[in-house]
Amino acid sequence: MTLLERYAEVAGSDVVEHLRQLAGLLRGARVIHVNATAWGGGVAELLNALVPLSRELGLEASWEVLEGTPEFFACTKLMHNALQGLQVAPDWRALRHYQKVSAENAERLSAVLADADFVFIHDPQPASLIRHFPQRRGQWIWRCHIDASHPERQVWEYLREFVAAHDASVFSLPAFARPLPHPCYIIPPAIDPLADKNRELEDTERRRLCEGLGLSLDRPLITQISRFDRFKDPLGVIQAFRMARQFIPDLQLVLAGGGAADDPEGNEVFHECLAAVEGDEDAHVMELPPRDNLTVNALQRSSDIVLQKSVREGFGLTVTEGMWKGRAVIGGDTGGIRLQLINHHTGFLVRSPEGAALRIRYLMRNARRRQEIGENAREFARRSFLVTRQLREYLTLMVAMRDGAGERIELG
Ligand code: UDP
Repeated sequence: MTLLERYAEVAGSDVVEHLRQLAGLLRGARVIHVNATAWGGGVAELLNALVPLSRELGLEASWEVLEGTPEFFACTKLMHNALQGLQVAPDWRALRHYQKVSAENAERLSAVLADADFVFIHDPQPASLIRHFPQRRGQWIWRCHIDASHPERQVWEYLREFVAAHDASVFSLPAFARPLPHPCYIIPPAIDPLADKNRELEDTERRRLCEGLGLSLDRPLITQISRFDRFKDPLGVIQAFRMARQFIPDLQLVLAGGGAADDPEGNEVFHECLAAVEGDEDAHVMELPPRDNLTVNALQRSSDIVLQKSVREGFGLTVTEGMWKGRAVIGGDTGGIRLQLINHHTGFLVRSPEGAALRIRYLMRNARRRQEIGENAREFARRSFLVTRQLREYLTLMVAMRDGAGERIELG
């Protein structure tokens, strides 16, 4: 089965047909994506799906990864954090090294980049490549995946010069954008329905993975999967669970996340959560190994309700993941979660542990309503939050940039 057929099977043949029509207008276009890492993180995960799909649709798509020294990546990591608001002053010596390594990457990639029709530069790390291509013939697009609305001022001033040299920028949400002297587009995040984290699971495999964690799948289960971060409000989740359990006595809770070991604050929050559930056999606070995507999948699929009770959130991929699995999701009334959960229709938005507990009680007592909301959520995710929708928007963007935004796009 071709990749497109596989996507048609899960995302719908209408969706794939639309992609074919748009891609027909771009047949043979050379599209290069550049980012900083081949694996780990959402950007790499999505490029892993987008690039092969684009190729099958007739584009000459490829993906290039920056090569660099540990010092280079330490510098780009700081840059990344500064763009997200961390107050770190620029280290000028490190930035000279950053420029040197960028120049080496530009040299290595010069043939492909100079000749491309479209170059997508993902996040700040490769942003300065553009200065080495004054004669470029294609359109260069800066694709920012992070919240750049409140960057550290000096680092942004430094980066802005490179970013502004691009022909357009793409941000994930309007609230994440920076004012720039070129067109800015909004393309929300998406998930890959064929990735291990989201694909269909055999019932036996799903059960094995959950029972291995000590859960009973014959009893109701609510789950929040996220980093142990105060903004994700894990302690609020525990409070909501306690309140809801007064009405649903056999309720179980899973609060699972990874990365606490190498994040001092995460470690602290993790231990606070462990302490808060001590002695409670039905509240499972656990660390997940990195990239244990099948376990995340199995937990979300086995849950009666998926929670993402954040008090601050960018987009909230776990919300989409729960919705795609047909779960009723209760999310914090904040950030991009508001785009996903249409209150009472594709999920519930809450502002307090009490609010979450009320919704848990309501959903656990109304199996039909729970199922209905889960079905609405899955359909909404299918149309709006899958990688196929993201690809459709990239294709539309390329057609518009090539033909001039004033032209009408005629689909064959
Ligand atoms: N995730 C995971 N294992 C964990 C915790 C999170 O695989 O232990 C995944 C989760 O399924 C989601 C992503 O990491 O795909 C987190 O994205 P989200 O937007 O929800 O939150 P962020 O961590 O980016 O703030």
